[in-house]
Amino acid sequence: MKLLCESASELEHLVAMAKPFAKEGKVADYIPALSKVDGELLSVSLFYPDGCSYTAGDGNLILTLQSISKVITLALALMDRGEDFVFERVGQEPTGDPFNSIAKLETINPSKPLNPMINAGALAITSMIRGQDGAERIDRILHFIHELTGNPGLSYNKKVALSEYDTSHLNRALCYFMKQSGIINEDVEELMELYSKQCAIEMDCLSLAKMGCVFANDGKDPASGHRLIPSDIARICKTFMVTCGMYNASGEFAIKVGIPAKSGVSGGIMGSIPGKCGIGIFGAALDEKGNSIAGIRLLEMMSRKYSLSMF
Ligand code: GLN
Repeated sequence: MKLLCESASELEHLVAMAKPFAKEGKVADYIPALSKVDGELLSVSLFYPDGCSYTAGDGNLILTLQSISKVITLALALMDRGEDFVFERVGQEPTGDPFNSIAKLETINPSKPLNPMINAGALAITSMIRGQDGAERIDRILHFIHELTGNPGLSYNKKVALSEYDTSHLNRALCYFMKQSGIINEDVEELMELYSKQCAIEMDCLSLAKMGCVFANDGKDPASGHRLIPSDIARICKTFMVTCGMYNASGEFAIKVGIPAKSGVSGGIMGSIPGKCGIGIFGAALDEKGNSIAGIRLLEMMSRKYSLSMF
């Protein structure tokens, strides 16, 4: 029995109610290639552990993961290096600052990024991904994405990756700051290239919902039952999604929606309701904190209608 959504038409109705809010938002343009997307489109998919799924809205939209990729690289880095190594270098606390802020890197002691869901922490996490060179490391990230989505055809969007690589001056500054304090040891340009590619990995909402479902399903592939992520690591990722997944709007989101979720500046949101289902949303117009404005409204409506809140 489905705990959400009796039918696709019910989901269509909620999308239609949420969609007008997109007009109040703005598509991200600080990465030039992202600004070309139509901000008024909205789509959602739900994916259940039994393999059942629903999609509604402007289906087949393709989004780049952007910050949603931070959850994936966190899981991989924890599998590669173990909890002690990772959390010696990146903290576990929310910041209350914008996702790309540099401020706390200087003021906290010891000097390490506060969590893996902000840019500083995510850059440090990406630098922990094992591999002989950049090519092997992006291949490993992509292979992991292929396992999580069951879709071996997925890759990254070269234009978006290059556009970010060419313009991410603030991320470079974060890297150099962390290199100075010993959090990062590798060449900054190599790390920027890998991070830009990871953020530009693209997929549709259904694949996004499938990834959310693996985390919801305790790290196991819903189709085969094979374990893709150790249970403890899936739990850590979901916990970060609750405390830091929606940037400095995570507290309000926990009150209004109450599910583990991670957003990206492309307007994507991956939700992961423990034991129930994965959610993938794409609506490119953002609110002032960088979250999909219509996507958040849709999740608020879904949470109220289906009593989704974990709290
Ligand atoms: N690629 C983006 C960046 O580093 C990801 C940020 C985001 O989605 N919030 O700026």
